[in-house]
Amino acid sequence: MSNISQETVLETHHWTESLFTLKLTRDPAFRFDSGQFAMIGLKVDGKPLMRAYSMVSAAYDDHLEFLSIKVPNGPLTSRLQHVRPGDTILVNRKTTGTLTLDNLLPGKRLYLLSTGTGLAPFLSIIKDPAVYERFERVVLTHTCRRTSDLVYDRFILEDLPDNEFLGDEVRRKLVYYPTVTREPFRTQGRITDLARSGQLFADLGVTPFDPRTDRVMICGNPTMMTEMAEYLAELGFAHGHHGVPGHYVIEKAFAEK
Ligand SMILES: Cc1cc2nc3c(=O)[nH]c(=O)nc-3n(C[C@H](O)[C@H](O)[C@H](O)COP(=O)(O)OP(=O)(O)OC[C@H]3O[C@@H](n4cnc5c(N)ncnc54)[C@H](O)[C@@H]3O)c2cc1C
Repeated sequence: MSNISQETVLETHHWTESLFTLKLTRDPAFRFDSGQFAMIGLKVDGKPLMRAYSMVSAAYDDHLEFLSIKVPNGPLTSRLQHVRPGDTILVNRKTTGTLTLDNLLPGKRLYLLSTGTGLAPFLSIIKDPAVYERFERVVLTHTCRRTSDLVYDRFILEDLPDNEFLGDEVRRKLVYYPTVTREPFRTQGRITDLARSGQLFADLGVTPFDPRTDRVMICGNPTMMTEMAEYLAELGFAHGHHGVPGHYVIEKAFAEK
């Protein structure tokens, strides 16, 4: 268990019956780049039960924050959803992930495309001053089934633009584009359809995806990711990996079984 630290739950917030946020203490030795993930979990029957979780908190925050799904009968989340302040969470100090700025070539506009808990890594990224230094505009899209799943919308629309250090840059550069698939909403539909139809760009008042200027990070359900990656490849976007920066990068928000 040498790489695993024991952190204490500071706060929990239950957004809906299937989504909650966990705030934990942070070991000063825990280091990460915005957009990365770590393995976190609980001790079950004397053994660590760990799952991948993207950091929602900023790399400079003194606490750790995670956004979690509640999977019915999920080995970890059926337990994790019941933790309370003071409880212990296991956090592996080894962090990794492809959704980092270093895996992207320089560009003008950065698109952060998410579905469901795929929003998590992008919450860390939009708190990173480096993103506003490198890009003229940052577009964060979040697609969910229902409006109640659009968690963190207040943080994005109200708290972050008011932030003492980042507020000016956020107000000038960050655009939030939520979409909903199963309820009436001002922007309705899957992000892949909205991009292919041109609606996304018409709504934003910008030219369509262009590998010369646009960079894209994708995190969400496997179907959205595959379809969006195919679309970007058709447009001539190159996939970025560790050590080989490209026009777009992808990370699954969960593994399908
Ligand atoms: C790179 C990576 C980053 C991840 N980051 C997060 C995160 O920030 N927040 C988070 O809640 N989960 C995240 N996950 C998923 C997470 O690792 C677990 O799968 C999840 O916590 C459920 O654990 P479980 O043991 O209860 O169920 P599991 O046995 O792990 O999952 C059971 C099934 O539930 C579904 N499922 C799992 N996670 C999700 C999800 N997030 N959204 C929708 N369906 C899901 C899948 O169909 C899966 O097969 C991430 C996964 C990967 C690979």
